[in-house]
Amino acid sequence: MLFPLIDELATTDIVSVLPRVAVRHALQKMSQYKVRNVVVEEASGGYGLLTASDVVRLRFSQLGLDAAISDVGYHALPYIAKGSNLLDVIELFDDAHGYAAVIDESNTLFGIVSNTDILASLDPQTMLQRQQLRDLLRRHEVKKMPYDTLIGDVLACLVDQDDAVVVTKQGVGVGIVTTRDAIRLLHDEVALTDPVHVHMSVPLRTVTCDLTVGEAVAAMRDLNFKRLVVEDPQNRELIGIITQRDLIGVAYSRWAELMHHHALELREIIHVLENKTARLEKIAATDPLTGMANRARFEELLLTEQERHCRLPAVPFSVLIVDIDRFKQINDTWGHNQGDIVLRGVAQHIQGQLRHIDTLARWGGEEFAVLLPQTDFEAARLVAGRICRSLAQNVFERVGCVTASFGVAMYQTGESASALLGRADDALYRAKRNGRNRVE
Ligand code: GH3
Ligand code: MG
Ligand code: MG
Repeated sequence: MLFPLIDELATTDIVSVLPRVAVRHALQKMSQYKVRNVVVEEASGGYGLLTASDVVRLRFSQLGLDAAISDVGYHALPYIAKGSNLLDVIELFDDAHGYAAVIDESNTLFGIVSNTDILASLDPQTMLQRQQLRDLLRRHEVKKMPYDTLIGDVLACLVDQDDAVVVTKQGVGVGIVTTRDAIRLLHDEVALTDPVHVHMSVPLRTVTCDLTVGEAVAAMRDLNFKRLVVEDPQNRELIGIITQRDLIGVAYSRWAELMHHHALELREIIHVLENKTARLEKIAATDPLTGMANRARFEELLLTEQERHCRLPAVPFSVLIVDIDRFKQINDTWGHNQGDIVLRGVAQHIQGQLRHIDTLARWGGEEFAVLLPQTDFEAARLVAGRICRSLAQNVFERVGCVTASFGVAMYQTGESASALLGRADDALYRAKRNGRNRVE
């Protein structure tokens, strides 16, 4: 599964205000559009967020709702480029507000993205874990207030966007007041001296602590809740409140862990396969007796050279065909094993005389082919002569001196590879006829 792109998650229905308007105006818009936040569009091009809990806080502060937004200190929104991957920006959602501005290529606001948007994108199927809410609840105490508490005192407690107060009657939860309720109540200008039970949201919906994380995510999504009030099914005691932010943390860290784990596994498999492929390629291209290139590899390289010559006709290349003289006698005199040793020795001797761009291949039997890139006929003839002479001077253990005959041919523009090799072979044949241990 892929991580979603931010633009797929962002809310593009944005309610925005200018910084110079009063907070009351923002409250009006929040109420009208049933949103918990408004985006503050600054003249400088920056964006901020005024949240429901800011409005609550201001209602109970000296500034009051008539202060200008620019004077009350709202939250600057972090920026995310449209097209970012969720995994790249997930750490931005660690802060309490859990919102970021999504900016397009021309630096204009595309939308905002929130914890809620992320949560809605989560697929509970991916959260394979069996972890239950009770495991996550240790640090999430429920704020409880008796049902005759003044609503003003309850609202004053909602200092954090994720806050909620559970209203109790004789210790049992009967209702809840969230920041969403706070907006409604402040907008309606209810008397802050009313008891909370007049205005709280009822009934109090709870879930049991044996829900899995996946089930909790699904429940929040279905109920469109920002938090779940969790109770112990045994004694019906309220044991905690779990927020979207908590669940995102758990779910995504698990998801990221899975992805990371699989990525490592895949990388390992790829590494093994690459090594295997490289080994097989080498085997497929190598003559097992001499360790030099085989005929197939030689033909491949010859083709590459021919193509290069097509593009750069001014750059010549040549080939040599080398055949060991009277090799049958060596086999007959010293045995086939010794013949093999000589074959390897001759191959190594020739290889030792070549540049690193040249290729020596075993052409078959006791015959070799040499590809000499960037080499014209004269230079190829000199190379062949040098190898021929040095080979003749080399003394092989037990067998003594071994000679070879050489046919040289330079590639002629437009001819086929087999025509080129045919000419080299003809030259070799002439070298044999003309007495061996020589170059033609
Ligand atoms: P010429 O100078 O005319 O080339 O004489 P020659 O004896 O080298 O030519 P010929 O083609 O008659 O003999 C080649 C011999 O090489 C025959 C074959 O048994 C031997 N030979 C071919 N492949 C191998 C090999 O892999 N190992 C060994 N030991 N001998 C091989
Ligand atoms: Mg031969
Ligand atoms: Mg031979």
